[in-house]
Amino acid sequence: MYPTDASHHLQGLKLAFARAGAGLMRLVYPPVCAGCGKMTDRPAALCPVCWGTVRFIEGPFCEITGLPFDHDRGEGLVSPQAIADPPRYAKARAAVFHDGVARKIVHRLKYADRADLAPMMAAWMVRAGRDVIDDSDVIVAVPLHRGRLFSRRYNQSAELARMLARLTGKPFLPGAMRRIRATRQQVGLGLRARQDNVRGAFLAVPEQAHRINGLKVLLVDDVLTTGATLEAATRALLRGGASRVNVLTFARVASQGEETLYA
Ligand SMILES: [Zn+2]
Repeated sequence: MYPTDASHHLQGLKLAFARAGAGLMRLVYPPVCAGCGKMTDRPAALCPVCWGTVRFIEGPFCEITGLPFDHDRGEGLVSPQAIADPPRYAKARAAVFHDGVARKIVHRLKYADRADLAPMMAAWMVRAGRDVIDDSDVIVAVPLHRGRLFSRRYNQSAELARMLARLTGKPFLPGAMRRIRATRQQVGLGLRARQDNVRGAFLAVPEQAHRINGLKVLLVDDVLTTGATLEAATRALLRGGASRVNVLTFARVASQGEETLYA
């Protein structure tokens, strides 16, 4: 069937609207700072002022937990906390502390459909996580439950993992782990409640076991708070045959006292 003049006209109108729409998008989303919203020269980047406020995590820090020491103890040391109560994952690293601008970025990636922030965030993670990236064979993201995935449209951790795979050349395995139980939001829960909340929530998918069996997994999430979620996911991966699990997050809370304040 040939298009009539009327439908041609309609097509033309649709095209005009689509073009206007694209122009409008540029007006609504010009290149602005991901922290304060002021104009910048590049999209999805920070202005110099916001950049200056980000607390990047620098050594010396505990070899296992990645948490900086209060006092300089030199490199290659393990904190008393990690010795007394070692996590199931081998090592954890994070790019920044979860406050100020960094916290805003995390929130925008998670709730505001700002997947365009993932490349910048992943680049910071590569810088902070060089040792755990080198010590891993494959990348797995902490999964969302299907219901939450539907309401948020995408999994922010998977967006970070996908970008990390692109930057590091390590394969990302999107279907390797599932959240088999919907969990309450961890916000406002203390350590014990968080542990109870996520216990048994994850499963390394049996049909995908061959993709992690005997391999070192880099487990990726946006924020490390108490580590309860990452511990539960680590347990699932180890049960699923992973030989070792390293954790890499964009942000982490600075101290135990802040754990109930943040998501
Ligand atoms: Zn700014």
